[in-house]
Amino acid sequence: MPIRKKNYKKRHSLRENCAIFGVTCDDIGFSVSKLLNQGLIALQHRGQESAGISVLKTGGNIHTYKKNGLVSRVLNNQVLSQYWGNVGIGHNRYATTGATGYKSTDYIQPFHFKNNEIEFSMAFNGTIANFSEIKKSMDEMGRVFMTDTDTEVLAQLIGSIALGTEDWPEVLKLASRLLDGSYSLILMTDQGDIYAMRDPLGFKPLCIGELKNSRRNLYFVASESCAIDVVGGRFIRDVEPGEIVHLSHQKDIHSEIVLKSKRTALCQFEFVYFARPDSIIDGVSVAEARLRLGINLAKKDPLLKIPEIRDNAIVVPVPDSGRGVAVGYVKESGLPYVEGLMKNRYVHRTFIMPGKAKRKIAVKEKLNPIKSVVNGKDVILLDDSIVRGTTTQQIVSLLRDKGGAKRVHLRISCPPIISPCYMGIDFPTKEELIAGRFQKLYDKDYIEEIRKQIGADTLIYQTVDDLIRAIGKSESQLCLACLTGNYPLKSVRKLAEMEESIVASRKEY
Ligand code: AMP
Repeated sequence: MPIRKKNYKKRHSLRENCAIFGVTCDDIGFSVSKLLNQGLIALQHRGQESAGISVLKTGGNIHTYKKNGLVSRVLNNQVLSQYWGNVGIGHNRYATTGATGYKSTDYIQPFHFKNNEIEFSMAFNGTIANFSEIKKSMDEMGRVFMTDTDTEVLAQLIGSIALGTEDWPEVLKLASRLLDGSYSLILMTDQGDIYAMRDPLGFKPLCIGELKNSRRNLYFVASESCAIDVVGGRFIRDVEPGEIVHLSHQKDIHSEIVLKSKRTALCQFEFVYFARPDSIIDGVSVAEARLRLGINLAKKDPLLKIPEIRDNAIVVPVPDSGRGVAVGYVKESGLPYVEGLMKNRYVHRTFIMPGKAKRKIAVKEKLNPIKSVVNGKDVILLDDSIVRGTTTQQIVSLLRDKGGAKRVHLRISCPPIISPCYMGIDFPTKEELIAGRFQKLYDKDYIEEIRKQIGADTLIYQTVDDLIRAIGKSESQLCLACLTGNYPLKSVRKLAEMEESIVASRKEY
């Protein structure tokens, strides 16, 4: 859910990946807000900037509470004690640079849509690529917007279609025909129904679960299966690409595939970095995919054939993002696994911090090498990805200068990220992406130039083919746009071309 600004540069400053969670219970005396809190805490890794919930009060009113901050701060006991209801939805938002400029809670989700005609609350994870065209036509229909977000455009679109019919699956079906983008969405009506919808290409994960006992039945919908585990539920299945699932507190689950696409485009970065390892997405265990990524890297590592280095080598993960892949590397190579970097667990994902300067300070506050174990060693450093290259450069120099490592060999589980993401991951412009910029500048030698820039002694990335194999899906089931530049959405292809030409024309002057 990016906040779009007219200015090209600023528009790039906000990209979001988010978490959504919903619960419905057939016992109207039961309050779901505690479970919403637990589910959102389990999904905190998907968004740390703000959190919110909407609950349905008996009698049909929706009440929404949302604020900037981590879930534990936003949804404290005082808030939870005041929000009762047997149906509810919640959202965690992650935005990057510039996001702090927006203080208004209008930008935080769930988006509570209410006017003299219609009321519903909606939370979504994704990016609507053609949102400005939709906004323009809504504008022409006399709609007034309070924010500059695609979330509001989506809500206004859904609200406008719902004016004509109470048939919510039909409303969502019609809306999805007009949307070009990535969206996993949950919508709660004032009748106490929750509808969950995943876009036809299935960019973002979404799954459902249940908890049944003699007293009550609960249904859950979540961005990731780990949240269903945490609330004590049983994972039922993923919401399929193009599917609308109706979770009713009175009946069972109903579902309908409304838009089927020949290909799907599940984001590869969910497996590489974003999702929690204890989640299973579209049948693939995130932890096992990461293990296989590590095994691949070790299998192809020429370093392991050099006895002088092998005998002096330790495998060190960048905590926490490199751990899964390091375990795989160790399994294949037989080298010792060493926690050579101490992570301060109270500093959160640094790339989420707004601004480069803040991120740099945060890395220092977050990581410190453990000199007694890395001193004099050939450190095989495992991490999930290199985006801008700034954090990685700092970590390599920390290990060498502060930790006394003899050499630092960098192994990266994600292939070079060369193109921006327009589908909801905060990958900046091609120029800010170190691999994008260097590939343009140095062509075939670009990896060697990245290695020099980062200051590692050796650098090996995963190949795209090995990544596909490690995830265990086919190329036509995954979105690999950030690695290949081939975008699966029409509006995004247009947008990418436009931005390339803006960059080119800027250089001419
Ligand atoms: P850098 O060296 O500055 O590119 O930072 C790379 C580290 O940031 C890796 O550990 C990545 O996992 C993490 N990271 C994850 N997602 C992003 C993102 N969207 N933008 C920037 N860095 C990210």
